[in-house]
Amino acid sequence: MKRKVLIVGAGIGGLATAIRLVKNGYDVEIMEKNEQAGGRLNQIKKDGFTFDTGPSFFSMSYEFEEFAKECGIQLPFEYVELDPLYTVNFRGDDKTYFLYKDIDKLAEQFADIEPDFKEKFERYMEKSGALFHDTVDIVIKQNFDSLAGYVWALMRVNPVHIPVLFKSFWKHVTQYFSSSKAQQIISLVAFFLGRTPFDTMGIYSLLSYTEFRHDGYYNVKGGMYKIIEGFVDVLNKEKVKIHYNTEIKGFEEKNGTLKSLTDQNGKSWSADSYLINSDAAWFRGNIFKRSSYALKKLDKMSWTMGYLTFYIGLKRKLPQVNHHNYYLGTNYKDYAENVIKNPGTLQKPYYYVNVLSKHNNECAPEGCESLFFVCPVPNLYFKQDWSDKDEIVDSILEDFSKRIGQNIKDEIVSRTIYTPEEWQNRFNLHRGSGLGLSHNMNQIGIMRPRNVDEKFKSVFYVGASTVPGAGIPMAIISSKLAFKRIQQHVS
Ligand SMILES: Cc1cc2nc3c(=O)[nH]c(=O)nc-3n(C[C@H](O)[C@H](O)[C@H](O)COP(=O)(O)OP(=O)(O)OC[C@H]3O[C@@H](n4cnc5c(N)ncnc54)[C@H](O)[C@@H]3O)c2cc1C
Repeated sequence: MKRKVLIVGAGIGGLATAIRLVKNGYDVEIMEKNEQAGGRLNQIKKDGFTFDTGPSFFSMSYEFEEFAKECGIQLPFEYVELDPLYTVNFRGDDKTYFLYKDIDKLAEQFADIEPDFKEKFERYMEKSGALFHDTVDIVIKQNFDSLAGYVWALMRVNPVHIPVLFKSFWKHVTQYFSSSKAQQIISLVAFFLGRTPFDTMGIYSLLSYTEFRHDGYYNVKGGMYKIIEGFVDVLNKEKVKIHYNTEIKGFEEKNGTLKSLTDQNGKSWSADSYLINSDAAWFRGNIFKRSSYALKKLDKMSWTMGYLTFYIGLKRKLPQVNHHNYYLGTNYKDYAENVIKNPGTLQKPYYYVNVLSKHNNECAPEGCESLFFVCPVPNLYFKQDWSDKDEIVDSILEDFSKRIGQNIKDEIVSRTIYTPEEWQNRFNLHRGSGLGLSHNMNQIGIMRPRNVDEKFKSVFYVGASTVPGAGIPMAIISSKLAFKRIQQHVS
């Protein structure tokens, strides 16, 4: 008889593992709290516009290819390489920097501020590439069973990298580049891990290698949500049932064994194994009631920042705006040091704008544009009251209008705002922290909430707050690690 696995959550981590399981002969069912699949990688359709809600590009495309091969499927979506990767503009500066993968084109952008950029960048890439290749297979793509095993793996990493472990991302970057703007632009990628270059370890400069050299960034044709639609389609064909609007609220155990999970209507769900795609730390504390993950303990952990995201339908085209754009201020260090804890930074916010309709006409009515803004903000631990959200959004729209030389205020026909409250309440994210647990030394590898449960032998975890960490490619790797755990358990 087929072994049955129940999956809690239809985020990308849950769906990818479901595909691996069903293609390997398991009987799979999924319970999802919301009315549609995707979790943070989601979609809003409103007023004739389509918006991606969270991720807007991904790196390490080969992880998807490997996943499809391992599952024996055609990848059910098409992706397109980004070139340039993104643009950056500083407040008060007319220049827009285009971040190309081509080193000569990239160096041209910095010709006036960092004349020997090419040579410095090559040196920086060499180090970033070495960090990537020396750690990805040994540390990132591994399940660890003990601290000793983890330490042993770390010892196999080339010791020349040890100093980078004790340096911040910022410190590392500033050793290579001397112009303030080049330093800011190159260190921006640390924000993609949900913290800032000042409190992210230098070792994560390996991300610069993934964006500029190794594989680059990719968009999905038709919008990022096509990934989820494609995955759900594969599962539908395999007759995997996804129960929407079904939130797991409790559990029953007998003699230290998990008997069943219970949903909001009191219905019990049982299986041979359980895979939790809900945040691995939040679920342990809130559903399994583990004292080491009680609210106070969760608050003591280091979480990523919150996001204020808003989705704007515009009744005009913006040819002067590119697909992926970062708008920075003039006080990078001060801003970055405060953005996680201090709501005061929102007076002059930094933000990112994605124009989904730029390359996907079908995502906006004719002659219109579908815009998605992301502004890093303190999570709900540091800012509970979001009654000022419209004020903050208006100030960003005003700043954006000035910087693109087009007042868009009266041309907005659709407007939706998610504060960290929406992110928390929709997806059960602790304090609305956008990327889950941060990636400091104490919260990576064996130190991150594990993908096997401490108590129930039949419970496993997948997704951003377990191994290896946040981001779409990491969710695909996480699905492989969780799948291996389930297979080991069964055999
Ligand atoms: C604003 C933003 C921008 C981002 N941009 C990028 C980007 O450009 N590129 C990139 O690679 N990554 C990006 N990320 C990160 C990426 O979105 C996440 O790392 C990834 O989507 C997490 O997937 P997951 O499967 O771990 O979790 P989730 O997407 O959170 O999925 C978990 C699922 O579990 C469900 N659930 C939770 N609790 C329960 C319960 N009790 N019962 C039933 N269901 C439950 C939730 O509703 C959800 O559907 C971004 C994130 C945010 C917030």
